[in-house]
Amino acid sequence: MEPGALDLASVPRDVLDLCARLVSKGKRAWIVGGCVRDLLRGAPASDWDVATDARPQELLAIFPRAIPTGIEHGTVTVVRGGEHYEVTTLRGEGAYTDGRRPDWVEFVDDITADLARRDFTVNAIAVDPLDGKIVDPFGGRDDLARGVLRAVGDPLARFGEDGLRVLRAARFVASLELALDPATEAAIAPTLDTFRKVAVERVRDEWLKTMKARAPSRAFDVMRRTGILDVTCPELLAGVGMEQNKWHAYDVWRHGLECMDACPADPILRVAGLFHDVGKPSTRAWSDKKQDYTFYEHDRVGAEIAAPIAARLRFSNDEQARIVGLVRHHIIQYSPEWEDAAVRRWIRRVGLSSLQDLYALSSADARAKGRDVEADLGTLALLRSHVARVIDEGAALSTRDLKINGHDIIKELGVAPGRIIGEILAELLEAVTSEPALNERAALLERARAIVGARAG
Ligand code: ATP
Ligand code: MG
Repeated sequence: MEPGALDLASVPRDVLDLCARLVSKGKRAWIVGGCVRDLLRGAPASDWDVATDARPQELLAIFPRAIPTGIEHGTVTVVRGGEHYEVTTLRGEGAYTDGRRPDWVEFVDDITADLARRDFTVNAIAVDPLDGKIVDPFGGRDDLARGVLRAVGDPLARFGEDGLRVLRAARFVASLELALDPATEAAIAPTLDTFRKVAVERVRDEWLKTMKARAPSRAFDVMRRTGILDVTCPELLAGVGMEQNKWHAYDVWRHGLECMDACPADPILRVAGLFHDVGKPSTRAWSDKKQDYTFYEHDRVGAEIAAPIAARLRFSNDEQARIVGLVRHHIIQYSPEWEDAAVRRWIRRVGLSSLQDLYALSSADARAKGRDVEADLGTLALLRSHVARVIDEGAALSTRDLKINGHDIIKELGVAPGRIIGEILAELLEAVTSEPALNERAALLERARAIVGARAG
């Protein structure tokens, strides 16, 4: 399709009906914001937002079953065919004194006034879906065609009234693959005090949305250049310009970004990719012997640095554990000489449920080195097949896989319940890891008896 042309064929029937209903009541209706932008880009729209000059009370009369989701701002949600559509009364906007939301909302009749309060020109286009007429007072279509993200109006004023917009700017640079207009970019640094007021949950949500882009690094580059990252995650900046060693084509910072981009578009996995080498700056040391830099224990140190960051950004407990676990175990030192027992031990250490994540991260990590990629990917493939064989052979990887359990130990050995049971099981698992044939009831009970005896003696 021609850039700037609009293909209304993909507007859902229910949206057209909804707009027709408003028009039949003497009102006007437009589709607006992200869906129009996505239509113009030829991309699938995520949500369909309708703007109308009907006032909130009129909306409730016209759509009696609408949910008054944000009625004080003029928004109701109309449900059609299981889909939710937000219908919002045209509004201008009052002053912002808290950097987060306007002090008051003013309803208006003019679509242009409504578009003027929106953040970026590409998000400030409205279309009457019944006649196809486009309202584009700020040149959003031109900007889209030129590949530019530009604030509506004076960027300093717009970023100064709502702190979230600078982060949205970074996100849209990645997700829409646009370049940031220079004046818009220049307005970010001077307005960071407003950005500082944004709740950390919103920052996290923007990060997660950013991670769905083809290359989220585009957003993180904007965040670094403009100072946004100094506010949200200064730990990442220590790697900027930090040279690595002969295995790497990039500095620590760029390598983290490349790894994030190379991960599958699973947001948490990509966050882990971004952080996987966060322990490198503080562990870098020159080795005379290697005539190169080393980063000993950067996985352990990195996990210690990543843990408070993930907590601070309010990722859920599960997400924090996943991110930190991946940073902790991202180094895979496999060589084909590994005994099966070593592979079993490695699986136990990283956790069976983390294997797919670790494979994905390691493969991204290898590709992000920019050197010797094939050799690293080859080693990873060998590890994967070795792991698959060991699992196939029925290796005991947790105490649950042992042929006896805690009850057996209590009953057969007369041991009193308590912490000792878990400790005996752990010792048995360790023994079975080295010697799989030991995983038989009689042999395990005998070994358990020996452990109990040794403890008593
Ligand atoms: P997506 O849904 O793909 O993330 P979007 O542009 O639809 O992108 P939403 O958050 O759904 O973003 O917002 C819908 C519209 O509301 C935007 O297109 C924009 O016009 C306006 N908007 C949203 N947030 C802001 C903001 N902080 N300041 C100004 N306008 C905003
Ligand atoms: Mg949207």
